[in-house]
Parts: sequence; C-alpha cells; structure tokens
Amino acid sequence: MRRQRPTLIAVSTLIAVTLTTAPTPANAAPPDQVTALTAHQADGYTTLAWQPVDGATDYQIERTPVDADNTPTGAPTIVGIWRPNRQINQHAPTFADAGYNPGDTFQWRVRARTGTTEQPYSDPVTATTTAPWGNPTTPGEQLRTGWETTHAAQYTTDTDEYAYTAAIDALSDRVRVVELGRTVQNRPINMMVIGHPTPAATPEAVAATAPVAINCNVHGNEPGDREACLIMARQLAFSTDPRITDLLSHTTVLIVPTINGDGRANNTRGNSTGQDLNRDYSLIRQPETTAYITMVRDYRPVAGYDGHEFGNSRAGDLPMLPPRHQNVAQPIFDQSQDMIEGHMYAKGAEAGWWACPYGCEGGGNVGLSEETILRNTLGLKNVTNSLLELRSSGGQTRPDEGNTTNNRRRKTYSALWTFHQFLDYHRADRADILKARSEAIETQAANTGRLVFRGSRPIPAHPAPHPGDSPPPLDAPPADLILDNPPCAYKLTDAQYNGARTDGPGGVGTTVAQRIAAHGWKVITIGDDHYIPLNQPERGLIPLLLDGKGVEKLTDGERVYPTLTGRRNGPLAVTGFTCADDATINGPVTVRAGAALVTTATTISGPLTAAGAAGILLADSTINGPVRIATTDTISIIDATIAGPVDLSGNTTGTDAPVLAGTTIRGPLNCTGNNPTPHNLGIANTVHGPRTTQCAAL
Ligand SMILES: [Zn+2]
Repeated sequence: MRRQRPTLIAVSTLIAVTLTTAPTPANAAPPDQVTALTAHQADGYTTLAWQPVDGATDYQIERTPVDADNTPTGAPTIVGIWRPNRQINQHAPTFADAGYNPGDTFQWRVRARTGTTEQPYSDPVTATTTAPWGNPTTPGEQLRTGWETTHAAQYTTDTDEYAYTAAIDALSDRVRVVELGRTVQNRPINMMVIGHPTPAATPEAVAATAPVAINCNVHGNEPGDREACLIMARQLAFSTDPRITDLLSHTTVLIVPTINGDGRANNTRGNSTGQDLNRDYSLIRQPETTAYITMVRDYRPVAGYDGHEFGNSRAGDLPMLPPRHQNVAQPIFDQSQDMIEGHMYAKGAEAGWWACPYGCEGGGNVGLSEETILRNTLGLKNVTNSLLELRSSGGQTRPDEGNTTNNRRRKTYSALWTFHQFLDYHRADRADILKARSEAIETQAANTGRLVFRGSRPIPAHPAPHPGDSPPPLDAPPADLILDNPPCAYKLTDAQYNGARTDGPGGVGTTVAQRIAAHGWKVITIGDDHYIPLNQPERGLIPLLLDGKGVEKLTDGERVYPTLTGRRNGPLAVTGFTCADDATINGPVTVRAGAALVTTATTISGPLTAAGAAGILLADSTINGPVRIATTDTISIIDATIAGPVDLSGNTTGTDAPVLAGTTIRGPLNCTGNNPTPHNLGIANTVHGPRTTQCAAL
C-alpha cells in the first residue's frame, strides 16, 4: 500500500493540472459535486447510489418530503452519513435510506465532505417509495400487522399476532401455523411452516426439505426483527413473484415470531421469571427454550438466523456473527462466515445496508462462546447460522432517528432485507450448506480431537476500510477448559438421569433424561446406568452439559474411556458397555442381550450381530461382513463402511428413531418391523444392493 500512494498522488495532481488548464464546459458539474445520484425503491427502504468524489471524507444524505407536484411539504433533513467503513467496495457508494412512512414521496440529494468542508449538493432525485407490501384489495395480501396499521407507533401485540398469523394460515395454502409449546404464562409459542404449493405434512417430511429457521424475538425488548418476520410471512404466503415461489418450492421456511411472548408483552429482555432465554438454549430449563430446541430436533433446520437489537449507536446497521465455539465443526463455522462475509457484506454493499461483525465499532465484550446462546447451540447442532443485531439507535450516521417511529422502521426493514437475503443465500448455496452439515456430522461423530468447554474461534477484522474495526474479542479457551483426550461416553447414575430438578421456573424442572431427549441424543441404558456416547452428531455439545468441567452443566457425569483398542483376534462376545476406539477386531462380534457396543475408527472383520442389545453406535468404522441388528434399544450408524448385507429388524426404540447416515453398504439393506422407522439425518447412504421396505428411501 505504501508503494502505491505516491502514484495516486501523482495521478490526482495530474488531474488537477488538467482541470485547471483545460477549458471548462459551461454546464459541467463542479469537481467535488456528487453526480449520477440514483434512488432504487425496495420494501421499506431506498437505495441511494452515486459516483464517488475524489478525496471525499464522507457523504451527507439529505431527504425532503414533497407532494405530487414535487413541492416540499417539510424541511430538508440530513438523514444519513456515509462513511468509508460502511461497505466493502469503496468505488460504488450506496446508502439504504429508511425510517420514513412507506409509500410517501421524497426528494434526495447527496453531498461530499472533505474534512469538515461541505461540497455542493448533487442534483436532486425524486421518487415515491414502496408502499407496505400487498394489494389492499386482494384477500390475504390486504392483511397488515398492528405495527404497520399504527405506522410503527405501536408494536404488534400478542393477540394481534395470533389473529394475523391465523388469518394467513386460513387464507394461504402455503402456510401452516403450529404451536411448539407454551410460555411460562401460558402464551402459545407459534411457528409458521411455509412451503409451496403446501408445506410438507409432518416434521420428518419438512426435515427432508432442508428447511431454514428464523427465530424472531427472544429478547422481549428487542422487537424489530419480529415485525420483519410478520411482514415477510405475508409476502411468502401470498406473493406471486417467481423468486418467492421458487424459494418455497425448494425448501420450507420456519418462522417463530415470538418465542418469548411473556417478555414481549412486558417489554423485558428475559421471560416472566427474569431468565435470559438466550442463555438457556443448551440447558433448556425453561419451557420456551425447550420448545425451540425440540423443534430443531424434529424439523432439523440446516440454516438459521436469530434476531436481536443492539444498543451501540456506532456499530453498523446489521452486526452479525457466526457460531464461534471451538467445538463447532470447522465446516459449519466456515459456511456461516461465508453466509455473513461472503454474501451479506457483498449484498449489503449493493443495497446500502451496513453489515459488519458483531462488535463492529466500539463493540465491547460481546459475541463470546457461551453454548447457552442460540448462535452457538445451533452451531453445535451443525446448523449454519448467524446472529443478527439491529443497531437500536441511529447514532451519528442516521441522525434523523431521534424520531421514534422512523427509528423503528429502519430497524424492521433492515431485518426484512436480511431475512430475504438469508433465503436467497440458502437457495443459491444449498448444496454447500448440506455438504458442510454432512461433513460436520461425520466429523463430530468420529469423536476425534480435543474438547473445549469455553472458548471461541477468532473473528479476524475484515480488511480495511470495511467494517470490522472492532470485531468481537479473541475469547481463546483457557488451559483448564481444554480436554485433550476425549472420553467415549459419559455415564450417569439413575439419580443424575431421572432425578427431579429444581432449576426450572418456580423450582419446577424437567429431568436430565427429558432434556437429553429434547436435544435428541442417543442414550444407552444398562441396568441403572445411563451412557451418552460421544460418537454422535452433537458430540461438541454433550460434554458441555455432562462433564464436570462444563461451565454451565446439567450434571457431573463419569467419563468412560475405550476399553477395546489395538488388535484382537478371535470371536468376541460383548457384554456390558463396551467402547472400541482405533481397534482392529479379527473375528465375529456378537453383542449379547442387554449389552452395548460403541465404536470409532474401528475395523471389525467378521459378522456383527446384536439381538436384544441395549445399543449399537458405530461411527467412522468398517465392518467387513454382514451386520444384523434386531430388537435393540438404541441404534446409530454414521459414516461407516459395511461389506453387507445389513439387516435392521424389529427394533423398538421408543421416540428415538434408529439413525443410518453417510454409510456405504456393499450389499443389500433391509429394514423391517422397526418402530420408529430409521432415518438418515439428511445424509444419504450409498447402498450397492437393493434397499427394501423401511429403508427404501435411505
Ligand atoms: Zn438480544
């Protein structure tokens, strides 16, 4: 950079010389005047774009209300300041002006400043802004939220929300409203399930569409995203725009407008017990977080956004952040960063919205590694996702937002833009998102590498001059929160597993068993002992709740290490809980009734047979021979290679379906009489022989 600077000075000197010596056309713009100003209208905002002025320090955006004759009806107001840290491409400045009544007509002008010196204004552009979405005379489209009806003077109330979403459900085949649960004060926690032409009928069928989930309002006093969600739901339900129908034909959109209905009704951050729900998604002590996590288990979203507002007036329009906890699989971190820095920063620069890393500028100690935060919880569940913050006050760069309704409009319409971009990203990058998820699940199930109880991956500052002056702090794990040698499983006593807890609201708590079931982890019960193996998709999250080193844990489980390693010749009869890691077993393996086998990085040469076993969990392993598993309680086979044939028969596994995912079978696959039916977590298996009955679609 230092070598380039003299060249730039030389060029600008040359330009100056040229300008002073050449004859100036009579109608040419002064050299420091903004030219080529354009105004592009979108939902709730206007993208202003112009030619940059050499040497400009920043730009001021002026807006004047005008009538149909272009006569001003109010005073011109500086509504925006464009600064060089707004966007990644400096050669094409843009500014998303929002914070006005949609549908009104305005005149805009933009001028550069060099230092504190104001340069001449551009020629004005005049345009009528886009009215709230939906034809007022078309059924369905005509619906409006309480927030829209009151022109942002009031947020949509709980009862307005129920009526509005019920009306959308009634009028649109694309939308089904389901109740995920109830808040502490018994408010329904609704989710809109949206697909085209209709949403898939069951959670399992929705999961097969690689759905996306938006959590709109966890902090009750941060309502801007919720209003965006409600508006977007109407657009998705009724729009005939081919983009929308294409999106909904390729996935299912899951929108939870208000997980914290009690907090929203009372305008408090926490729920009615004062609990910050965004510090509870791993522990799930509260009914609200339990509802969301159970939804994630059943609907299996592959990507997510979590909406917030942030009280830092300098921090960009749209601070975002990926899951950073170091137990999140690298592909999920990378894919989330690609969504944020690869997509949102680029599209933000086109639309004029200032996306940046949470923290952004003067951000402080934010965006850390607590697994209790949905951003990290979802990452640990192999979901590509981001936090979204709406800068809550206008600050220096949006000086008109002392006006409360204008401030609210800017926040909501910037969230609406983000959520639409999120859907476009999923549509365009679906294959990459699914690949990242598959790789993450297989990496997690392999149970290799250290475990970190708290600690984040670094978020490097984006290259200047784009945002990221102050990305979130490093947050590296301290040595005492690192476990280099991961156990095979955690063993809980019956008292730990089934004992009544008192950490829920009013001292009423669900058991560890119920919370583990809500997370969807597989458990092997032998007598009074309950084993939670780590060769599972959520391997990074399990120790945070069950290890003594967990910072916010549920219980202090006993670490169980592998007992079977290295080479072993001859037949093997497995009794009790047996864990094999990095083992080579030459000979047939029989898992006795009531016993369990858990393997990672293990090769078994010979048939593997289990009948009436407590559990079989195979990951990153090879079976050179047939596999027959019958009447067994817990079954998971992930990223295995099996010579085959494979037969799963008569397994009754309660509510927890057998998993067969990412596995290559060089022979036939037969599944009969299993209840529930086995599934593949969305990771297809490669089967060289015929697949029959229950496994026909695996
Ligand atoms: Zn928040």
